[in-house]
Amino acid sequence: MNFTRRALGATALALTLAALPFAGAMAQDKGLVGIAMPTKSSARWIDDGNNMVKQFQEAGYETDLQYAEDDIPNQLAQIENMITKGVNVLVIAAIDGTTLTSALANAAAADIKVVAYDRLIRDSGDVDYYATFDNFKVGVQQANTLVEGLKERFPDVKPWNVELFGGSPDDNNAYFFYNGAMSVLQPMIDSGDIAIPSGQMGMDTVGTLRWDGSVAQARMDNLLSANYTDAKVHGVLSPYDGLSIGIISSLTGVGYGSGDMPMPIITGQDAEVPSVKAILRGDQYSTIFKDTRELARVTVGMVDALLEGSEPEINDTETYDNGVKVVPSYLLEPLPVTAANWEERLVDSGYYEKSQIE
Ligand code: BGC
Repeated sequence: MNFTRRALGATALALTLAALPFAGAMAQDKGLVGIAMPTKSSARWIDDGNNMVKQFQEAGYETDLQYAEDDIPNQLAQIENMITKGVNVLVIAAIDGTTLTSALANAAAADIKVVAYDRLIRDSGDVDYYATFDNFKVGVQQANTLVEGLKERFPDVKPWNVELFGGSPDDNNAYFFYNGAMSVLQPMIDSGDIAIPSGQMGMDTVGTLRWDGSVAQARMDNLLSANYTDAKVHGVLSPYDGLSIGIISSLTGVGYGSGDMPMPIITGQDAEVPSVKAILRGDQYSTIFKDTRELARVTVGMVDALLEGSEPEINDTETYDNGVKVVPSYLLEPLPVTAANWEERLVDSGYYEKSQIE
C-alpha cells in the first residue's frame, strides 16, 4: 500500500517535472470561454471585452470574443457557433435578455455553463450565475445626483421641471435603473418639489429601445416643442451616457447652455470619455462609474469555480428572478461621478489617464 502510494507519488512528480518546460503552454489549457458582447458602439462594452480577454488569458483560458452590433439574430448565431465550437463556458451580455432560451437549452445539453454578464438573461433555467453591479443602486445614485445638481444650479426654483428617460425595455437592467431612480424621485413628485411637465412616466412610455442616442434625441426634441414653449426644463434623468449625448444635442439645439438658458442637470452612466468631458464642460452633471475591470475579475472567478465544481463567490441570492429561477449573483458597487470627484474616481483608480479626459 505504502509502496503503491509512493510509486504513484513518484509518477506524479515525474509527470509534473516532465510538464515543466511546457508550463507556459499548459497554462492555456484550462478551457475555452465564449464571450458574447452586445455592441462596439459603446466604449464600455469594448472595455468589458478587453478586460475579460486579458484576465481570462492570465488565468489560463482561451477566449472567443464576439460583438453582435445590437443585432439579436447576429448574437444568437454567434452563441450557437460558440456552442458548436465546444466552448466550456459562455459569458453573455445579452442584447435582448428574453431571446436566448433555446440557445441556452442547447448549451445546457452540451454541458456548457452560462454566466450572465452585466445584464440578466431572462426566461431560462440554464443560467448558472450572474455577475453585475447593484443596478437598483445605479438608479438611486442617478436620481441623487440629479437632485444634488438641481439644488446647486436652481436653488430658488420650485417645482423643478424634470423629464425622464429609461433604458431599453428588452434589457432587465433598464427597469432596475428606472425603479431605483423613481424610489428617490417619486416622493419628490408627490410632494410637489419636482414636476414632470410632459406627464410621461413609466418604462413603457419613457424607455429607449436599444439604448439608442438618436432615439433619445428625437424624443427630447418632441418633449421640448410640446411642453417647453414658455417653461424651462431644469433636469433630465438619463440612464446612460450615450442617451445623454443625444439629449444634450437636443437641448443645445434650442439654446440651452447659453445666455439666460442654463443647461439642465443631466445624468448618465458608464463614465465614457466623451461624457466625462461633457461633465467638465458643464453640459452633463453626473455619470455612474462601473469598473469593468472588477466585473471581469468577478466573472473569471465564477468561471473558475464552475469548472472546478466549487462554489463561486456570490453576494445576492434574492434579487434577480429571471422568470424561471432566482439567479445567484454577485453585485458590485457603482460609484457616482461629478466634476467634483472625477479625478479621484477615474484617474486615481487607474481606469483612465488624465490626458484622455483633459
Ligand atoms: C448596462 C449599462 C449600459 C447600458 C447601455 C446596460 O445593460 O448595465 O452600463 O449603460 O446597458 O449599454
